[in-house]
Amino acid sequence: MGKPTGFKEFTRDAQIYREVGERILDYKELYSDTKNSVLKTQASRCMDCGIAFCQSNDGCPVNNLCPEWNDLVYKDQWKDALDRLHLTNNFPEFTGRVCPAPCEGSCVLGSVDKPVTIKNIEQAIIDRGFKEGWVVAEPPKVRSGKKVAVIGSGPAGLAAAAQLNKAGHLVTVYERADRIGGLLMYGIPNMKLGKDLVERRVNILKEEGVEFITNADVGGTGDNAFSFDEIKSGHDAVIFCVGATNARDLPIANRELKGIYPAMEFLRANTKSLLDSNLEDDNYISAKDKTVIVIGGGDTGTDCIGTSIRHGAKNVINFELLPQPPEDRADNNPWPTWPRILRVDYGHQEAELKFGNDPRTYCLLSKEFLADDNGNLKGIKTVNVEWAEENGRMNMKEIPGSEKVWEAELILLSMGFLGPEQYLGESAGVETDERSNYKAEYDKFQTSVDGVFAAGDCRRGQSLVVWGIDEGRRAAREVDCYLMGESLLPYGK
Ligand SMILES: Cc1cc2nc3c(=O)[nH]c(=O)nc-3n(C[C@H](O)[C@H](O)[C@H](O)COP(=O)(O)OP(=O)(O)OC[C@H]3O[C@@H](n4cnc5c(N)ncnc54)[C@H](O)[C@@H]3O)c2cc1C
Ligand code: SF4
Repeated sequence: MGKPTGFKEFTRDAQIYREVGERILDYKELYSDTKNSVLKTQASRCMDCGIAFCQSNDGCPVNNLCPEWNDLVYKDQWKDALDRLHLTNNFPEFTGRVCPAPCEGSCVLGSVDKPVTIKNIEQAIIDRGFKEGWVVAEPPKVRSGKKVAVIGSGPAGLAAAAQLNKAGHLVTVYERADRIGGLLMYGIPNMKLGKDLVERRVNILKEEGVEFITNADVGGTGDNAFSFDEIKSGHDAVIFCVGATNARDLPIANRELKGIYPAMEFLRANTKSLLDSNLEDDNYISAKDKTVIVIGGGDTGTDCIGTSIRHGAKNVINFELLPQPPEDRADNNPWPTWPRILRVDYGHQEAELKFGNDPRTYCLLSKEFLADDNGNLKGIKTVNVEWAEENGRMNMKEIPGSEKVWEAELILLSMGFLGPEQYLGESAGVETDERSNYKAEYDKFQTSVDGVFAAGDCRRGQSLVVWGIDEGRRAAREVDCYLMGESLLPYGK
């Protein structure tokens, strides 16, 4: 611990995003630079508590060594801090930006005061590392002669590829999309995670020897499809990292109306058009001058709000089925568990400034989409619901007489995901679990087919970038053991 009294002397000073009024005018990253002196002071708030929950299973999924790098930042030993960070996390430039920071929810200082700004410090270390030229390709010195196919290039696939390449195996990543990165590329919008950062990391992996094949739909039927058998017979092991891309639909009356889209269709088209032509090719779903209703919250809902505002939407409203969470932890949600509290994310701040209020409305059940005389979407009918606990379960009841009609020209469905699309698993004969995810035990990652592994959202269900990295790293170790009988790769834990 650099400064024993830091946590007593200084209050939390988290990174400030760019001014709301300025940032909604562009798609550049939200983040503003934090001064070195502030980072140093904030790092000194880490108390070296002895039992660092932040890096335990309750905190950081990849077990980042937060207290160690806090101390090194306080002492101005940035290069050492970077080395400690890379020991457990292949891509801190992603998590330092988009992770919801469960580490901070379990920070010991957070049990009596505001937690250490762990995530900001993580981002600052890796950004400094790139700026100083410390992050360079490190190709393996020896090759094993074994070949591994990774299907899908999200955080799980990239972490698995990075680790297996380090172990000397020849890794090829097959990606169905035209760009590498999974939801890092075509899910999370540019303002939250710059796509140049994703490309920068992919280029390092390429220099290290990982091969990437884009427009490669494994198990699919199109022109660019590869059959599963072709992939399996050409490699010594295969890892499925195809994500949970099967979006939940809302099959209520008039679902077929034009103007209702799954959130991912809206977000993917926007990023692709932004990267291809700076939105000049018109190949995206525009929210300009429209009243937009986003059904469902979470990161995806927030990203739809932020993107619609940047298009120039007339208004953006967000429906939530569940009640508003409490401002502070409830009694059944004690420290160091993840705090289930009301959060104001970037999209909510932006809607507040642009339209004068938080866009979220709670306890609303969507009943029917409404059409105008020409068959175009003109709105949606809802009813209010109340939630009550019965026999230990939360049950929902409609409130009679609370029906309401909302006008909207664009409705985006952001209600979560129902596991992976099934065609790859079916062509491989891989078993699924009761939630339709590929069945493979955590820490083993072996599916029901010998030599075929599964990691990330396609195994655990829709989750977080940091969990994708964790699973990719761990699956890589299991694959290494499968190929070589042992492994020197770390567990990350
Ligand atoms: C809009 C949105 C915003 C999010 N924001 C955040 C956030 O802020 N913070 C956070 O921590 N998490 C966020 N998440 C969740 C996070 O992005 C995911 O949990 C994470 O990306 C999962 O990683 P993955 O590698 O398992 O899969 P993915 O990132 O989904 O990648 C899977 C890849 O596999 C490819 N693929 C699928 N099938 C095939 C096939 N048959 N052949 C070849 N390729 C195939 C897909 O094209 C895709 O590129 C967000 C999710 C969404 C949808
Ligand atoms: S990866 Fe996430 S949980 Fe881990 S230290 Fe970084 S912000 Fe915290």
